[in-house]
Formats: sequence, C-alpha cells, structure tokens
Amino acid sequence: MRKKIVAGNWKMNNDLAETQSLISDLQNELPETEAEVMIAPAYTNLYPAFEALKASKIEVIAQNMHFAESGAYTGEISASMLKSVGVETVILGHSERRAYFGENDEILAKKVDAALANGMRIIFCIGEELADRKSDNHFKVVEEQLKNALFHLGAAAWKNIVLAYEPVWAIGTGETASPEQAQEIHKFIRETLSSQYDVEMADSISVLYGGSVKPNNAQEIFSQPDVDGGLIGGASLKAADFSAIVKAI
Ligand code: PGA
Repeated sequence: MRKKIVAGNWKMNNDLAETQSLISDLQNELPETEAEVMIAPAYTNLYPAFEALKASKIEVIAQNMHFAESGAYTGEISASMLKSVGVETVILGHSERRAYFGENDEILAKKVDAALANGMRIIFCIGEELADRKSDNHFKVVEEQLKNALFHLGAAAWKNIVLAYEPVWAIGTGETASPEQAQEIHKFIRETLSSQYDVEMADSISVLYGGSVKPNNAQEIFSQPDVDGGLIGGASLKAADFSAIVKAI
C-alpha cells in the first residue's frame, strides 16, 4: 500500500506570529486521518513550527535546501542544518525554484544526493509548462525531468522519495488539471518508473498532484487510482481549506 500524503507548501508566506497562529488553528481543525500531513513553513519558522508540533502527527518539512554540506554559500541552508532543527523531509525541484532561481536538473540531482546522504526524505516536483502541454510534449518533459534528476539512483534510494506532479500552468492560477489529465500523467510516471526500475518499485512510490487543489476539487483528484495525495499551495494557508483537503483524502 502506498502512503497517502497531503503537504502544505506555504511558500514565502507567514511571519513568525502568523505561523504560530496557523499552526494552532490546524491543531484544532485538522481531521483524524490515516494520511501523512505535512506543512512547509519558511526557513525562519521551521524551528518554532517543529517545537509547536513535536507531539503532533503533523510533520514540519522544508521548501528547499542547498546541496553543499557547509561553507561559503551566502544565504543558503544545508541538509544537516535542516536536520538539526527537526526537519526530515524537503521539497526539491519546485517549479518556482526552477523558474526564478535557475535550478536545473543537474543542480537538482546534486540536491537529491545531498538530501539522501543525510538520510532525508524528498518530495520531488516535476511538471510541464503550458507550452509543453499545448504542444503535447508534457510526457516527454516529465520523463526527462525524472531521468535527469533521479534515474541515477538505485531502486533502494527511492524508499525516501515521493514525487509531486505539478503542471506549471495550474500552480497558483486557479486552473487545475482535470482528474483525467492528472490520472493520465500519474499513470505515465508510474510506467516510466516501472520501465527504469520494476513494477513493484513503481507501485510503491507515492505520486502527489499539485496545482490549484482546493476543497471543492480535492476529492475528485484524490480519487484517481494513481494519485496518492496532494501538494497544496494557496489553499494550505487557511486552516479551514487545508483541513477540508485533508478530509478529502
Ligand atoms: P497552488 O500551489 O496550490 O497554490 O496552485 C501548488 C504548489 O506550488 O505546490
């Protein structure tokens, strides 16, 4: 059985007080669930979030990290720094990191290696831009992203990897992939894993959908057979909305 996961990517939102207040609302409102629930606050709020949620089932995860262990990388954060404040999981390859911060497959492969070397779990994001979708190139783009950043790994390393399919045209736009579009590409991702590795491995990997998941569309998306949960941006910033999405899983 694959793990079901709902992760809130808070992006560059919420100062310390807002972080504490949203966490306390989540503690009151989140429903009981078998799924893993995660939130990714900004770096500056990771430790207070971890402290506040130590006794809870909500996991605090990071939005990014650098590949180097330490040294002259002004403004960056390493895997061991994240671990030292209780963070065990990191989002890598988000489309905003790729688009605005020049993170390409080569850099991402190094980040993946660094996270795994530190015993961390990764939520690795992949997904095509609108032009790729319009030209029917989305399968190829997603396959290349997987291949270039992840296919150097042995099958065993994948026990610490979760994938998130996030079509760039659906992120923060209010436009979601239809449940059928999501299912089609999630199935393709699993087939691609199966041909590179094997079918048991492919069946064991959780593949989340991300891109304008809201309380009113979550259930339909999550009910697709190859969709194992969601990576939620905008709707993770309101406790009521995030709770409704967690309920939908
Ligand atoms: P969104 O963001 O839910 O606001 O579209 C999703 C994401 O970027 O992870």
